[in-house]
Amino acid sequence: MRRLLACLLLLLPALAPAEEMRLPPETMRLQAMSARFAPFEVRVDLSALPESERRALASLVKAARLTDALYMRQLWAGNGALLLKLQGDATPLGRARLDYYLVNRGPWSRLDDNAPFVPGVPPKPEAANFYPVGATKAEVESWLAGLDEKARAEATGFFTTIRRGTDGGFVAVPYSLEYQGELAEMARHLRDAAAATAEPSLKTFLESRAEAFATNDYYASDVAWMKLDSAIEPTIGPYEVYEDGWFNYKAAFESFIAVRDAEETAKLDRFGSELQWLEDRLPVDPSFRRKKLGGLAPLRVVNVVFSAGDGNHDVQTAAFNLPNDERIVAEMGSKRILLKNYQQAKFEKTLLPISKVALAAADQAYVDFDAFFTHILMHEVMHGLGPTNTGPDGSGGGVRAAIKELYSTVEEAKADITGLWALQKLMDKGVIDPAGERRMYTTYLASAFRTLRFGMDDSHARGMALQVNWLLDAGAYRVNPDGTFSVDMRRVKKAVEGLSRELLTIEAKGDYEGGKRLLERLVVLRPEVQAVLGRLGDVAVDIRPRFVTAEALEAEFP
Ligand code: ZN
Repeated sequence: MRRLLACLLLLLPALAPAEEMRLPPETMRLQAMSARFAPFEVRVDLSALPESERRALASLVKAARLTDALYMRQLWAGNGALLLKLQGDATPLGRARLDYYLVNRGPWSRLDDNAPFVPGVPPKPEAANFYPVGATKAEVESWLAGLDEKARAEATGFFTTIRRGTDGGFVAVPYSLEYQGELAEMARHLRDAAAATAEPSLKTFLESRAEAFATNDYYASDVAWMKLDSAIEPTIGPYEVYEDGWFNYKAAFESFIAVRDAEETAKLDRFGSELQWLEDRLPVDPSFRRKKLGGLAPLRVVNVVFSAGDGNHDVQTAAFNLPNDERIVAEMGSKRILLKNYQQAKFEKTLLPISKVALAAADQAYVDFDAFFTHILMHEVMHGLGPTNTGPDGSGGGVRAAIKELYSTVEEAKADITGLWALQKLMDKGVIDPAGERRMYTTYLASAFRTLRFGMDDSHARGMALQVNWLLDAGAYRVNPDGTFSVDMRRVKKAVEGLSRELLTIEAKGDYEGGKRLLERLVVLRPEVQAVLGRLGDVAVDIRPRFVTAEALEAEFP
């Protein structure tokens, strides 16, 4: 393999751009893999922002750029050296590798079950770079089991890595130590932004987050983030745990530097007043419903100016729900952020073209952006509803700890399917116009194929496979003789409620074995689904942002 490659490389310098058609197959293959992401220029109108806020925004973009390097290091210890090597290769093949590496933030193609695309790299480590090289999951598990309560909480916490101590045993290392250099630099930019802004709640968040980078205690800054009330809406720090393939314990660094879309946010606040009403009616045994949710959970619709780290690789995040600290979720709920400009780009570049292939002609007319946007909103709302603790009245431990590596898939599927359930409830109640019913289920079916293309390593896609198969078995989705899919409106409501009950009950009971059986049975791509995916050929899988406005800001405030 290596020798063959050396031969190819010798040929490359002779190639002129006009001879692109004669590029080696590997270069063309990589270019085709990159082309699955439709370029999208991220331009945000900042004309309403005063200079103080634009200056703060520029500092935040600088801080956010650093999360890229941190995140890549968290994924794999070899990432930094490999990036340097790829950057030094000016051949067409080298450039194609670098380009696709940057899409994935690593040498594994996430869309292709993490197949490596750079010669000589190991398989993507399931434990990422959070656990000691060479350690097994069983060794770490048995070490964790032997710790006292306080040490175990630290070792299983979001913000520590596990390393080997000088005696060869395991030890928990706080992020503030593990990533000390990068975090100090990020803190400096955050303090610059804090000095620039005229908005008190933003200043408080930025100062407390800068402090958290040094103390490793993120609680106060997460609370300040919850209380943000400013035109700029920054999310920066260690957050999601999906990269920890062993336990979903460890948080990866990410940034979303965004500005609020005030008009849409006001519209969404209307749904905020329905949260407890929905919780009280969840399709689950009443003892598992939460009697009193945390205070009104804020909903934000933003337009992204810049994203980085775990917030910018391959398939782009359209919405998220933070913080993940279960204490804060229990005390004050969580904040949902919808990335409107990213969602609109996805809808136009991927979902509309997919619906023309996947749906029967009669169904295609029912696919629209409003339905797409509203379900994403409700998905985020539903992450904040349902059990966070197991047992009647939440008397047991946390759900996440109880169902371990199943959690991401189960929770994403729960948010999706109970999102449909909740929107139907609000239609029945008259809060939402019931005329949108068929548009909701049909747009959701089209969006399923968009999600399934992400591959079975993605927890959203795994959750979606589970839903599609459940709905097919319940007769709610129908496969037509020509292979297109349709919704059976007479059966879909009952099927949605049934799966909602199943997933909520698994979470409420912390039923690891039951969850495992369900996932083993339904997290598969069946032939009829594969056939549609196979026909999507040239449709872009997702968008690839280029940060035009962020670059202009950095030029304006160097
Ligand atoms: Zn989600």
